[in-house]
Formats: sequence, C-alpha cells, structure tokens
Amino acid sequence: MNSFQTIAGIALVTVSVMAHGGQWYKGDLHNHSLHSDGDSSVADVIASAESRELDFFVLTDHDGDMNGEPTHWWDPEYQSSSMILLYGVEWTTGDGHANVWAEQPYDYAPLWQAHQNSDPQAAVDAAHTAGALFSINHPVRLDWKYPVPTGVDAIEVWNGAMLINDNFHASNDFWDDALLQSGTKITGVGGSDTHNLEGILSPFQGHGNPSTWVYAETPTPQGILDGIKAGHVSISATYDDYRVELDADADGDGNFEAMMGDTVFANGNEVDFRLNIAGSGSGTGDMVQIPSSIVKAIDGSGKLKFWDAVWMSIQIALMENTDDLRMVMVVKNGDAYTGWLTSGGVDEINFSDTPNAGSKGYYRVEVFGEPKVKGLNKIIFAFRTALTNPIYVNY
Ligand SMILES: [Zn+2]
Ligand SMILES: [Zn+2]
Repeated sequence: MNSFQTIAGIALVTVSVMAHGGQWYKGDLHNHSLHSDGDSSVADVIASAESRELDFFVLTDHDGDMNGEPTHWWDPEYQSSSMILLYGVEWTTGDGHANVWAEQPYDYAPLWQAHQNSDPQAAVDAAHTAGALFSINHPVRLDWKYPVPTGVDAIEVWNGAMLINDNFHASNDFWDDALLQSGTKITGVGGSDTHNLEGILSPFQGHGNPSTWVYAETPTPQGILDGIKAGHVSISATYDDYRVELDADADGDGNFEAMMGDTVFANGNEVDFRLNIAGSGSGTGDMVQIPSSIVKAIDGSGKLKFWDAVWMSIQIALMENTDDLRMVMVVKNGDAYTGWLTSGGVDEINFSDTPNAGSKGYYRVEVFGEPKVKGLNKIIFAFRTALTNPIYVNY
C-alpha cells in the first residue's frame, strides 16, 4: 500500500512496497484419472474435488501413458462450476517427474520431445515458452536424478502419496539445498497425487490432502499461476485444516508488508516476523519457546532432521489434550532456528532476527500437531500439519 504524508501542503509518497490485493484460494496441484494410471473417470475425480470445497484443481495425468498427447484436456467431463481449472500434465521420465501447469491448452510437443531426450532444462524452457510453470514432483522417493534446472518454478515438497520421511527430505533437504545453491526463489507446493478413489489405497489418498493455498490477485487460472510463481503459497495437511501465514516487517513501521514469497531487504536492520495460524481456534492459550540449546542441538548440525521430527511428533502424541497442542519450528537458511510449543489455540507468534547484512537468506515455518486425518493416515502425515513458503532476505 502506498502511504501518503502531507508536509507543508505537499503530498509525498513515502513508501511503496508490495501491495497485496488478493485472497487465499485452496486447491490440489497433482491428480490422476483414467487417462493415465488413476482408477476413476474425470467426472468422478472432479466430483470428489468439488466435495472438498477446493477453489482450484488440475488434472496432471502422465504424459507417457498418453503417448505425449494430453487427452484429458479435451475430455468433456473436465469442467467445473465451482473450481478454477488449470491445464496440467505430469512430465514423467525415468529419471524424474514434474508437473507442468498452464492457463489453457498449449502445444505439448516440445515438452514431449524434451521427455524423449531426458532433458529437463529443455522442458523448463518449453514450459515457459508456453506460459506454463514447471514444478519438480516428489523429488525424494521417486528420485529426481537430474540437476535442478535453471528457472524451475516450484518443487513439490509435500506429496500425499509419499511417506513422511520422503516428504520431510523433500522439504528439509532437497528444497532447502535448491534454495541455498541456486540463490533464486523456488516455490514449495503440495499435491495429493491422488490415483485411487476406490480400493485398498483410497483411504490413504484424497483430493486436497495436502492442500496448497495460493494468495491470488484474481480468481482466475492466471491469477493462481501468478500466485504460485510469486511464492504466495502455504501448504496444509488436509483440505479442512488451518492455514499458516508468515509475514514480515523490515522497516520497523509496524506494518507487515511482506508475505511469503516476498523479499525483504536487510542491511543490518532487525526484521520482525508474524506467524498467523488462520482458522485455528480461540487465539488464547499457552506458549513456551523451545530453548535454543535444544533447537541448536538438533542433529548437532542445527538442521531439523526427519528423526527429530518423528521424536517430537511422538512427544506431542503422548501429551494429554493433544487437540490444540502444536510445535512450531522456524527454519532459517535450511537450519532449525527457533521453535515453540503452543496449546489452547494460540494463533499468532511474533519473532525477530537481524539477518546478515547484504547476504541472501530466508525464513520459513513448519507446524506439527494433529492432522485432521483418520487412523493410519496419521503415520503418513507424521503430525506435520502445515508448511509455509519462505520470506526471502536480499534474494
Ligand atoms: Zn510422479
Ligand atoms: Zn503423479
């Protein structure tokens, strides 16, 4: 927002930072149908997603199963009266999968050629030529064996078909390494990768688990894509769970003008951060900061590791009244930075830090608690309930 001051009758624009005039939309970026290896028709898939009140959706059937022709785009059942639909494909090579999402159908031939050449850089470039975004899928379990291509838009850091340790490594190793090594913004997204609406696997999957929240300026396909590209993204474990937002105030004016995906510029100044857990409860409760000695002792390297998260998740599970009990962890430049245990519906946490002057860095948040999934699904989700994109510093 611009703020105006009047000094001696002269109107001066004093600050012009990121203006955000949009809204949050929830959706699922990774889904299959009978056009590839899913078990359900497009109409049934759409009906399932609509029943979970998703705002946007995309079918991403495997290109190889369709011999390079995205036949699902032309399926007359691919329509919705309540969801914004994108046009997607899963670029599915032996050495890595990626989702490509676009506003409208486009010529897929260059991406199919890049598939046959096992050339992810050509695929990223072809996606961009078509106005599409390119997002590396499930990089750990079904390994992404290529280098991370230049200009990649997103990484699927939370896949609903993967086990907890794979998702943990996807975010806390693969994504963090890519952010640190590339020095560029790469948006973290979720995708349910739902294949089965029937049968033995179906209870473990489901549209919107996880859900990707996108802050979009317009409720249109392009608005959703622009929001993803900007990193204005937060991930929730399930379609009906709370959303976590991270904002920052770098100039000390009390306005948190930077949101996830934005860059703040720091040159030795303190940056204030505000974490908001939207729709989580009463806003009152107990909060205790996890001692820095414990945070720093995590794995000895300062990095939040999978088994640390499992251990802490078990601690949460063993505590009484777990309904509103959460652990909030801040990851700074790939390392665990600070954290809190909260109970009783605490929905806002503030913290500050003075980033290294002039150097690149980032802050992102993970929340652990009890996800709104049943039974064995809790093992899959590992009590991680939400993950934010970073606020970047000097990126
Ligand atoms: Zn895949
Ligand atoms: Zn898939």
